[in-house]
Amino acid sequence: MIAGIANRRDVLKGAAAVIGAASLMSRGAVAQTTGQTTGPTVFTGGTILTVDEDFSEAEAIAITGNTIVAVGTEADVRAAAGQGAAVVDLGGRTMLPGFCEAHTHPISGAIVDATMEYIGMARFRTTDEVLARIAERAAETPAGEWMVFRNFDPAVQEGVDELTFADFDAITTEHPIFVLNASGHLGYANRMAMNAAGIGEDAEDPEGAEYVRDADGKLTGVIKNQVAFVPVVMAYPAFSEADPIDAFIGLLDKWSEQGVTTCSDLGHGALTQSPADFQIMMAAASTGRLKSRIRAYPFYSMGAETWDAAGISMGDGNPIARIAGYKLVADGSNQGFTGLQREPYVGTDSRGLAYMDLDWLTGEVIDRASKGWHIAIHGNGDAGIDNILDAFEAARDAGIDLSDARPRIEHCSILHDDQIQRMRDLGVGASFLIGHVYYWGQFMRDEVFGEDKAQLLDRAKSAEDAGIGFTLHSDFMVTDPVPLHMIEMAVTRRLWKEPDYVLAPQERISVETAIRAMTINAAYQMNSETEVGSLEVGKLADFVILDTDPRSVDPDRIKDIRVLETWMDGQQVYSA
Ligand SMILES: [Zn+2]
Repeated sequence: MIAGIANRRDVLKGAAAVIGAASLMSRGAVAQTTGQTTGPTVFTGGTILTVDEDFSEAEAIAITGNTIVAVGTEADVRAAAGQGAAVVDLGGRTMLPGFCEAHTHPISGAIVDATMEYIGMARFRTTDEVLARIAERAAETPAGEWMVFRNFDPAVQEGVDELTFADFDAITTEHPIFVLNASGHLGYANRMAMNAAGIGEDAEDPEGAEYVRDADGKLTGVIKNQVAFVPVVMAYPAFSEADPIDAFIGLLDKWSEQGVTTCSDLGHGALTQSPADFQIMMAAASTGRLKSRIRAYPFYSMGAETWDAAGISMGDGNPIARIAGYKLVADGSNQGFTGLQREPYVGTDSRGLAYMDLDWLTGEVIDRASKGWHIAIHGNGDAGIDNILDAFEAARDAGIDLSDARPRIEHCSILHDDQIQRMRDLGVGASFLIGHVYYWGQFMRDEVFGEDKAQLLDRAKSAEDAGIGFTLHSDFMVTDPVPLHMIEMAVTRRLWKEPDYVLAPQERISVETAIRAMTINAAYQMNSETEVGSLEVGKLADFVILDTDPRSVDPDRIKDIRVLETWMDGQQVYSA
């Protein structure tokens, strides 16, 4: 298995060497896309939501090059911009800061998006339909060629709970097959795929991960935790041979159409299983073709010492692409029944899986925070979040100033009142995967937690009332980064499968609060609030122009608002 990783690393190292020179040049340098020399431009004649402290509206805004130079009344802004300034009439449309997506996986996700067939819930409603599609694909694919699929979700795609060797063998034994669960934390392989990765019956479980076995101790094909299935994915040639830079640039093109101007990589290193992800990111930035900024969080699985040895530190990069924190993982996925819970899941005696135990978490928090890193820790289950809060508290007691570490809990799915209190006291922020409510809300209520505990899912309003800074995110590839849809999900909390049902109505937030969660709050969590997240003088000119003010429409129609233009770094990067 380790040999499998090593081989793939060699392949990717080749790509990294090619781009090495470019990345070294761009590292620490000013972003390439800022090279324009345009004079001042005034935007006026519409609704301009600055998302400043008071959520004030401005009559006009002026930019010069990539920077906002004036915001305020039309007369003041025109005077500040000078007589020669160009003027853009917004024609009654609405300008907002560009959307900031606090938790996505675009570097590894881009190649997955490009090389794995989507078989998720937006395409097939049942497992039978999924299996029929795999059979259809087998019939059209030469023997020996890989078939790899993504976003299978037995939680919402009705049928079996998991895919095993038996399911795959009933379709074909001639193709290596791998299916990635929508959570990104589970995978299903056939024997041919596991063999290709060198995973045999004698394989040992990596720490915090599992090759699931049956009652006789035989492998079933179900694999828990990325650490364990990465070798299978890496054995898939289309994946390991894809051009990571082109795929990444192409993906961010799509996201800019949704108004995303700053995204994030919350598992930096996941593509190459090495710090070479940083070189890929910086090389992409140096092309001047990235349409979104990106903030990256090195992933714990390759070891902090690996990142240190590569010379990668908090803040490395430039205003387009930069390292913004360190990523740890306390547990798995609730809908995958691997989130760590205080009480067993409904109808089971399982409480989930700790990916890192408390001692490990605490040691990593202290080590990273003492070296200046911001800390983001994945926590889905309430017991997983207990561990995270215990680790932060222990770090504080060991002398770490948590306000310097900007601790944030990723997904932060289940919160009890006592945990909200602790988060407030410790100064810990939350980032909610709001699609857990919209897409999985029914499953969470009926199959995972029961009605009462489901009320504790994504407690955005309680966090707001407690003064806890929070953001909304897609966790792409778990869901797609469509900010206006995520805002609608948080404002309405309706369920995809039961549109008339509102899950935990007391946790609905206002449109203004949801906009903050997708702009300035996200900028803060990504250590970029002095650059982006609001339309204020001195900040970078990242903004979107919408056809309608999200505050003025029926909340159930927010997702239907059109993004007409996206501007990033003073340049129009998308026009409808
Ligand atoms: Zn994630």
